[in-house]
Amino acid sequence: MRKPFVAGNWKMNTDSQTGVQLAERIAAGSVEAAGRTVTVAVCPPFVYLQAVTRALASSSIAVGAQDMYSEPDGAFTGEISSSMLKDVGCTYCLCGHSERRHVIGETDELINKKVTAAINGGLLPILCVGELLSEREASRTNDVVTRQLEEGLAALGDEKLSAVTIAYEPVWAIGTGITATPDQAQEVHDFIRKLIGRMYGDQLAAEIRILYGGSVKPGNAAELMGCEDIDGLLVGGASLKGDDFLAIIQAAV
Ligand code: PEP
Repeated sequence: MRKPFVAGNWKMNTDSQTGVQLAERIAAGSVEAAGRTVTVAVCPPFVYLQAVTRALASSSIAVGAQDMYSEPDGAFTGEISSSMLKDVGCTYCLCGHSERRHVIGETDELINKKVTAAINGGLLPILCVGELLSEREASRTNDVVTRQLEEGLAALGDEKLSAVTIAYEPVWAIGTGITATPDQAQEVHDFIRKLIGRMYGDQLAAEIRILYGGSVKPGNAAELMGCEDIDGLLVGGASLKGDDFLAIIQAAV
């Protein structure tokens, strides 16, 4: 039985005050659901991780980073390592978010190194995959997702895979207000689970959590969560509004 998982990606938003206020609002409103029946995490900007972790210390809401570097330490100016993230209380780390792939230019090879370094450093990576609109229109969704998963998970053994959550986020649905229909999302989630089955066997495929992300809102969360292979939601814009994020958590209970 896969426990539902709702994660909020705050991206490059909030400041120290509004970030803590948002965390406190989410903690106060999700006492019942979070930790018991739904895993809940928020991913604030690096510089507010410690303040948000402190604000959530007495709640069961976990904190994740939006990215990390693939090396454990050294001369990598501006980068943040897995041990630094652990040190400030992170449990999760997004790896390969579409904005990192398509705005910053991260490759599958680098993302694979980040996923591996996250696990080696004691973090739980959320590996994001998803196709561009042009790739969907060219019927290449399955090919793109296959490449991103085969390369993103390369050389990861069974034990390490159990630490991974996958997020399917079609790029055309992120921040656009256009959500994949439940059928479109379920079709890709089913494809991903079967692919993981071919790579790692049926048991790990049945256990791995696959989140959907892309313009999730209170109004579409329950319908998406009703799909057999959608185990949770990765939420961007709506996670910045406490009441909306709480309603989405509620839809996953
Ligand atoms: C995201 O940032 O992962 C995301 C899905 O954003 P939004 O919900 O705003 O589309």
